[in-house]
Amino acid sequence: MPTADPRPDSEIDRVLVVVAHPDDIDFGGAGTVALWTKAGIEVSYCIVTDGQAGGFEPDRDRSEMPAVRRAEQTAAAEHVGVHDLHFLGYEDGYLEPTRELVADLVRVIRKVRPQRLLGQSPERNWSRLHASHPDHLAAAEATVRAFFPAAGNPYAYPEVEGEAWQADELWMMEHPQVTHYVDITDVYDAKIAALMSHVSQHPDPEELPKRLRQWFSQNAATAGFGADRYAEPFTVIRLGG
Ligand SMILES: [Zn+2]
Repeated sequence: MPTADPRPDSEIDRVLVVVAHPDDIDFGGAGTVALWTKAGIEVSYCIVTDGQAGGFEPDRDRSEMPAVRRAEQTAAAEHVGVHDLHFLGYEDGYLEPTRELVADLVRVIRKVRPQRLLGQSPERNWSRLHASHPDHLAAAEATVRAFFPAAGNPYAYPEVEGEAWQADELWMMEHPQVTHYVDITDVYDAKIAALMSHVSQHPDPEELPKRLRQWFSQNAATAGFGADRYAEPFTVIRLGG
């Protein structure tokens, strides 16, 4: 699989994150996002579904869920310095990489004009199947199609307003073959604060931080960052090699 080291963050002005559900970015990449925004990079989020199939509260009026989850994601984003959020409003659980979805992503890419895209993996990770929710695979497939060739080709999706824009890099979360780790120790508290903002999704808010500490320190150990460090894993692709 052709992979590459990412460009230095100092060469990046804008990043667009595309994920299927509210909270996906906070599990997989919010620490890295916090580092980027601290470095002066503008980060935008595009959340494809409203996550209305998530949660555990039997007494909750389900029609409230889209608004609840958008509000939680907006609060989570604040913790890591993200203020530009695009909610596409698709229905949780039924996502497919349709022409309509690719066009919606092309529209956001042409508007935000990111050098770096961060999304999910269109390839299923059999050893961590819960991370490969079908909506993640579909959102990721549509993101890859929008990354190349759709957003950058002026003759593709001409119905979508905005000038063609080609991002250079695609970062993926949840891919089975990790190629790059980011040390998030310095922003770990902001990441956890972002994750805990998804109040409707955490039946056991005491237990979650313990599990996360274990998971992210294991990543850091695998990356060789040493004891008491935390890391997020990615797979990085650069267009043209
Ligand atoms: Zn998800």
